[in-house]
Amino acid sequence: MKNLPYLCVGAGFSGAVIARELAKSGHNVHVIDEREHLAGNCYSRRDEETQIQVHQYGPHIFHTDDPEVWEYINRFGEMMPYVNRVKVTYKNKVYSLPINLHTINQFFGKCMSPEQAKEFISTLGDSSIKEPKTFEEQALAFLGNDLYQAFFRGYTLKQWGVEPSELPASILKRLPIRFNYDDNYFNHRFQGMPRNGYTKIVENILDHRNIKTSLKTSFESLNTNNYQHIFYSGPLDRYFNYSQGRLGYRSLVFKEIRASGDYQGTAVMNYSDTNISYTRITEHKHFAPWEKHKDTICFEEHSKFATENDIPYYPIRLVKEKAMLEKYEKLANQEKKVSFVGRLGTYRYLDMDVTIREALDIAKKFN
Ligand code: UDP
Repeated sequence: MKNLPYLCVGAGFSGAVIARELAKSGHNVHVIDEREHLAGNCYSRRDEETQIQVHQYGPHIFHTDDPEVWEYINRFGEMMPYVNRVKVTYKNKVYSLPINLHTINQFFGKCMSPEQAKEFISTLGDSSIKEPKTFEEQALAFLGNDLYQAFFRGYTLKQWGVEPSELPASILKRLPIRFNYDDNYFNHRFQGMPRNGYTKIVENILDHRNIKTSLKTSFESLNTNNYQHIFYSGPLDRYFNYSQGRLGYRSLVFKEIRASGDYQGTAVMNYSDTNISYTRITEHKHFAPWEKHKDTICFEEHSKFATENDIPYYPIRLVKEKAMLEKYEKLANQEKKVSFVGRLGTYRYLDMDVTIREALDIAKKFN
């Protein structure tokens, strides 16, 4: 029993980091992925025509407050300085995100100081909402209706396909609101982009003599008796043959735009009007400002409900899904030989750094 290898299902950050940690302690690990490439939805590749590093499943910007995770990722690839700065177009005007003093002053046509803006915004917030539970309540309590309508309602409706009054406040809490001119999208101390892309980083993590990686290999095709323990980062509901129903996900459809020169002058432009069908346009060469490219590739991002054949991206954690999730969690707890990990395995909206942190922590328990 002791000498049987471990199995990691999925070659994204979860599977790769767990595999590496176990391999380091002398265990043999088999990593499988049914796709033909590594890195899960973080997968990036160089476009043949332009040589631009393209994030195939949407942009991923690495940011963390965890020094250990930052040190970890830096060991497997060079991280270049990068600060995510996002703009939003609303009714033909461009504003800065996350909502900061520039956004507030521009939107209301004022020139307030930080203190004045704080005071002003506090008068707009709905003070009757003491404990905001939904996305909408959270926005209304802190920002008031005008900013909410302009920057959050439309975008969120398009992104999630439901009214923000049905979404949990936690989604909005991802975005900071600032009373200065800092337009860094993230609050974290460490931020960067891999010089050679995420795929290379995952490849380096998996590059260990005790790790064997098999692509285009489905979990269902293996005999689990050949493994000591399984770390499963595939969809939780799929593992149980959807016995409790399908957990809802949002999926994305990317419409490619090729042009010469600079298409939009920035990496991320959000569109918060509801009459524009996409949520944002990302221009991938701007995620690597240290590189020079004559031509450009952008992607319009269209969000949709994930049907059976779509790639799952964002778990929709509404009341209905949460009840179903609880049932799956009960089933998962009974599987002593399997640990469910990562975004799909635990059905959570996870950033890369949290995924790595959790992978490091769980691997420790098996060392
Ligand atoms: N959001 C919004 N307006 C924006 C950007 C974000 O209302 O211009 C909301 C939206 O509901 C989104 C959430 O904030 O799902 C989190 O945004 P983030 O940029 O973190 O989303 P991600 O890049 O992970 O898709």
